[in-house]
Amino acid sequence: MPAANLPSATPITPDMLTVPRKPVDGLRPSLIGLSREQLAGALAAIDVPEKTIKMRVGQIWQWLYNKGAQDFEAMTNIAKDVRARLAESYSIDRPEIVTKQVSADGTRKYLLRIAGGHEVETVYIPESDRGTLCISSQVGCTLTCSFCHTGTQKLVRNLTAGEIVAQIMVARDDLGDWGHKVEGKRLVSNVVLMGMGEPLYNFNNVRDAMHIAMDHEGIALSRRRITLSTSGVVPEIYKTGDEIGCLLAVSFHATTDDVRDGLVPINKRWNIEKLLEALRAYPRLSNSERITFEYVMLKDVNDSDADARRLVKLIAGIPAKINLIPFNPWPGAPYERSSWERIEAFAEIVNRAGYASPVRTPRGEDIMAACGQLKSATERARKSAAQIAADVAAG
Ligand code: SAH
Ligand code: SF4
Repeated sequence: MPAANLPSATPITPDMLTVPRKPVDGLRPSLIGLSREQLAGALAAIDVPEKTIKMRVGQIWQWLYNKGAQDFEAMTNIAKDVRARLAESYSIDRPEIVTKQVSADGTRKYLLRIAGGHEVETVYIPESDRGTLCISSQVGCTLTCSFCHTGTQKLVRNLTAGEIVAQIMVARDDLGDWGHKVEGKRLVSNVVLMGMGEPLYNFNNVRDAMHIAMDHEGIALSRRRITLSTSGVVPEIYKTGDEIGCLLAVSFHATTDDVRDGLVPINKRWNIEKLLEALRAYPRLSNSERITFEYVMLKDVNDSDADARRLVKLIAGIPAKINLIPFNPWPGAPYERSSWERIEAFAEIVNRAGYASPVRTPRGEDIMAACGQLKSATERARKSAAQIAADVAAG
């Protein structure tokens, strides 16, 4: 089939969809998400003396990303007049929290409003040994996986690097989680790019945001505490290894191209073989840096013993763990969750082949915060292949 017929084949480039970093709706431009070089440029633009810029960049960086300052006034080691000029010209406001829901199991779901009035969701999942923040990379999603609630939502736009980093900052603000020196003491100890959107269709912004999150003088998350989940954007998987270096999760979900074409339409562009080739080449793979294969358990679709056996055969040789995700239903979904007996039988086969196969306990179900349930109530239109083509044509 010609690529043009396939929704997943549409080469939507990041910059086409990202709101440029300039005043939006009359707001001052944000300093959040700028690299150190960009930050230096922003200071030069408000006449901060050249010889002090480097020092000021370092100070602002610390205040923003290490101490979590929420206004320029708090930056007490910066001269008063510079603080005043900063406040006149720039903002460090976080996205507004529209709603915060706390689940019975402690999971917190934030609905955040970003420039343009769009809404994205960020989910905090506390566990005994870690706290994981699940962040979004797009409003809606470029793709249309048939079992995913976000996939029914038209892609509205990519998030900027600042909007991606700001999700971590909002959670830290809310949890009172700034300033811990010891990694183990932090409430937000891990970040997963598993919220709304396909991160690898917003590569540059995701990369820039993760560089800020990993910066030693700032948020200082180790690259091994960041996991990026992709549906399988093969060329960008190579770039992720080279330019971000975080851990990788892949939404595998099927063991034959036929079934995967129906679940994850990007498979029509890059099939299982091409995907596995990219995964085998992922840098630094080892027992401690394994690829996570996400596998959503859909009743009578992909959950047979034969599937489990094919799966372990396909991934032979790849340091991997297999994360079985019981399907999380959403209104109107065309699938059902596999039974627990089925999930256990599947896990047993995978396990016996030597792979860890944790079943992902659905978290925050009572607040629709579980995987694939994220979708803001404001954006509902179903995206069709024709619409994607039209979006691209419109440039
Ligand atoms: N776009 C990326 C990351 C976001 S989705 C990706 O597809 O990998 C995060 C994970 O949730 C993916 O593995 C996705 O396949 C899974 N998921 C989506 N909808 C789901 C649902 N309804 N139930 C369970 N898991 C789902
Ligand atoms: Fe997008 Fe991931 Fe959902 Fe597919 S599973 S529609 S890639 S968010």
